[in-house]
Amino acid sequence: MAPASHFAATQAAAAALPKVDYYADLGVKPFINAIGPYSSLGGAEMWPEVIAAMDYATGVKVRMDDLHDAVGQRIAALTGADSAMVSSGATGAMILGTAACMTMGDEQRMERLPDSSEMPSEVIILKGQRYLYDRSIRAPGAHLVEVETAADIRAAVSDKTAMMFYLLNRPEQANIAAEEYIAIAKELGVPIFCDAATTVPPVGNIKKTVAMGFDLICYSGGKGLRGPYSAGLLLGRKDLIAYARQNGSPNHRAYGRSMKVAPEEYLGMLVAVEKSLEFDEDAEFRRQSNVVNAMARELALIPGVTTVAAVPKGEAREPYIEVHWDKTRYDVDVAALKQALREGDPPIEVRALFLSNQQLHLTAVALKDGEAQIVTGRIRGILLQHETRANADV
Ligand SMILES: *Cc1c(COP(=O)(O)O)cnc(C)c1O
Repeated sequence: MAPASHFAATQAAAAALPKVDYYADLGVKPFINAIGPYSSLGGAEMWPEVIAAMDYATGVKVRMDDLHDAVGQRIAALTGADSAMVSSGATGAMILGTAACMTMGDEQRMERLPDSSEMPSEVIILKGQRYLYDRSIRAPGAHLVEVETAADIRAAVSDKTAMMFYLLNRPEQANIAAEEYIAIAKELGVPIFCDAATTVPPVGNIKKTVAMGFDLICYSGGKGLRGPYSAGLLLGRKDLIAYARQNGSPNHRAYGRSMKVAPEEYLGMLVAVEKSLEFDEDAEFRRQSNVVNAMARELALIPGVTTVAAVPKGEAREPYIEVHWDKTRYDVDVAALKQALREGDPPIEVRALFLSNQQLHLTAVALKDGEAQIVTGRIRGILLQHETRANADV
């Protein structure tokens, strides 16, 4: 009998493999996630359909250009965009989108990147919107030009301008509203890129953002869309998406060759968009609200502890509670409590000091059943451990 082909042998063998607890073997501990789908915490729990699609794609090989065309068209149809591609995260989309606006399909320019000396390389950005990820705009050789007013933009735009950039999830940091910023870009004929990475859920925001008129928009795949961890989306104008693809893998000499997206991630990202659009987000919002409200009720039973329920503005619509405690009664600050939760067993990750101003935040989006009670119980235990003598003696 002829030996089994590589694929047949792989699939048969994979199905018969014993279960292995790789993380236990490595000594890497699972944790309770009371923050949400952060990159440093492994991203979102993928939809089961995404996992199945990724599994499928590992067993069938197709040409990557064919896959890119077909998935791109399907995602464009689903979102209302002219064109689409799957990227290596939102930051990969920022790099390739910026490279697209700098090179505009010019072979010689694409060869030169990140040497941007002989092409438009300036990217206009609002001073208040400089942020954590803007280095990805600079990565292909672009230079950021900070502006504050509409007049600044008109004075700054020249034949060196490649792109204008807008960060959608921090409206409070923009002294020019998105609509006006877009209108100025159109008037000046400059492509405008929008980072909308964390503005889903609700996933309906994607169609709304597309309809606003940005030329390129990026999303994170492994956050609110519950797609593959390292995938993302770049949506936008047909010509610009084509140029972005030219600057990326599988093209051998492309500047963005290293931002390779696996076929299973490419397909998985499409299925994540489909699933996200079908999903009853209001029911999910109510589910999460119930969990955080239950945590709030538990915590309110601890003397000197209060909570405030909130929903982020502009960011993913995930309800959370702020937890406050009487610092004279419990001698522990937010950073120390966070650290104590992290060092416990099982470790618990909570949001503190980052987006918030010295506040502790708890969300339910990534909590599994039964974990909310563990989180509130551990917070209670840590606070009581630090109760000041005056109160402890009563
Ligand atoms: C997370 C995030 C990114 C980076 O997304 P990746 O998919 O991890 O590359 C970019 N912009 C914003 C606003 C984000 O929150």
